[in-house]
Amino acid sequence: VERTFSIVKPDAVRRDLIGTIYQRFEAAGLKVVAAKMLHLDQAKAEGFYAEHEGREFYEPLVKFMTSGPIMVQVLEGENAIAKNREIMGKTNFEEAAPGTIRADFASSVRENCVHGSDSPESASREINYFFTPDEVC
Ligand code: ATP
Ligand code: MG
Repeated sequence: VERTFSIVKPDAVRRDLIGTIYQRFEAAGLKVVAAKMLHLDQAKAEGFYAEHEGREFYEPLVKFMTSGPIMVQVLEGENAIAKNREIMGKTNFEEAAPGTIRADFASSVRENCVHGSDSPESASREINYFFTPDEVC
């Protein structure tokens, strides 16, 4: 089985969508094996999105991601990385398939409710960025 890293972003927490989104994970066979609520500071958010530094959406993205609490979680299941990307839908909610989290709940390209790792390398880097080994059984 594979593990991936996921975030319920501040827009979704504000709109009381934590439970709804966790239900989507579990219904898709993605087991929540570690989770916590955090409020990112600027340095932590900048570090997480370092790959996008310099792009026009980077600064507003960091501002958005520090605008309120988030949920971070590790999801486990068969092909967890691809499966999670599939149920999230495309980055741009207007292009996301019907029934995906972003198609159903995102309010803009930036405020798109969820993050999910895009490769085994990012999954492992992102899990270690937010969780200590003893928090992930
Ligand atoms: P994530 O990394 O959050 O899972 P993703 O891999 O689908 O999403 P990325 O290209 O890595 O998308 O962009 C990271 C995040 O930056 C997006 O989820 C979105 O919140 C924001 N973002 C990306 N492109 C844009 C854009 N053109 N305008 C505004 N925000 C954007
Ligand atoms: Mg990404």
